[in-house]
Amino acid sequence: MDISYILNELGEEREHYFNAIAPPIIQTSNFKFNTVEEFRNALDDEFQGNLYSRGFNPTIDILRKKLAALDGAEDALVFGSGIAAISIPVLSLLAQGDEVVCVENPYSWTIKLFKDLLPKFGVKTTFVNGSDTSAIENAITLKTKLIYLESPNTFSFEVQDLEAIAKLAKAKGIITMIDNSYCSPLYQQPIQYGIDLVAQSATKYLAGHSDVVAGVVTGKKELIKKIFEKEYMNIGASMAPQNAWLLLRSLRTLPIRLERITANANKVIAYLQQHPKVEKVLHPFSANNQQLALAKKQMKACGGLFSMVIKDTSLEKIESFCNNLKHILMAVSWGGYESLIIPACAGISKADFDSNNPRHVLIRIYIGLEEPEYIIRDLEGALKLV
Ligand SMILES: *Cc1c(COP(=O)(O)O)cnc(C)c1O
Repeated sequence: MDISYILNELGEEREHYFNAIAPPIIQTSNFKFNTVEEFRNALDDEFQGNLYSRGFNPTIDILRKKLAALDGAEDALVFGSGIAAISIPVLSLLAQGDEVVCVENPYSWTIKLFKDLLPKFGVKTTFVNGSDTSAIENAITLKTKLIYLESPNTFSFEVQDLEAIAKLAKAKGIITMIDNSYCSPLYQQPIQYGIDLVAQSATKYLAGHSDVVAGVVTGKKELIKKIFEKEYMNIGASMAPQNAWLLLRSLRTLPIRLERITANANKVIAYLQQHPKVEKVLHPFSANNQQLALAKKQMKACGGLFSMVIKDTSLEKIESFCNNLKHILMAVSWGGYESLIIPACAGISKADFDSNNPRHVLIRIYIGLEEPEYIIRDLEGALKLV
């Protein structure tokens, strides 16, 4: 399917709403029925249509169609947050006594899901180095029901071999799920490699304006229906129609935003890599990444997110560098129009910080839509002080 068709036309039945170009926000909680028979059918199978907006809603439906098509998937569910789009499908796939194999260092709340929440329900998770497919294979037991991937992750950018992992999981009847927020469907298509479920924090590139928290999961219709009928409806982390509309608006510009963000980030990375005060830049496509060939096979490009390490890794210098940036904002999240910075040390108590720990000294940078020269000048000024 052409991306222009997906973004401009798919799901937009304009004749149903006065031929308006922009879709309406159907701001309603419930939908009426004309006969008991119609009402009974809707109650019997809510997956078929509009009954109550905790389930489906026409504005949400347009978004679901587009997001499924972008991933090359049969269907999609959208959620009130990215972490709901991860937690709810995961809860749906597992029962007491089951096991999960998960990559090391996924998104912080994903770690808490597997480490703290699921053990309360008798589900055990083994964390393995996902760069090594045989480590994943060796962690599988007869109880393994799910292999959970995040390729690349969004702080240190390790990648996993999606095709090989999907193949070994299929042979054992294990479901595979990936957090594809880093790449978005424009830069990586995990379903093509045989991955079953693809989750994204739609808060990031899909929404793209730092004004919506949202999530999406895509996959085979049968699996999406199973998640919808129980955990999706029961946990109720659905998306508001207003936010679905904002996402539809954002999707129109997703390709050009990503193109500009990627070009900007590449310029900033080239600048940082030659800077005498910069030790290294971590990035899936950097020439010294040992997984470069795999990253290039699976991913079209990298977008705006990378990490760097400055030569002087003392807490004082890292803090001074971050504190002296004037335009790059210090904040969580990424994927919007604005450049952001988050040093790993902000999440570590001063007493625990170890300047020799390679994870503690990472400084994550997200490059947005500004002129790259404007961002480089900002970095230049702050690097002078370290
Ligand atoms: C932000 C993020 C999430 C969580 O998404 P929310 O929309 O904040 O709930 C999950 N995975 C990754 C990689 C993220 O960056």
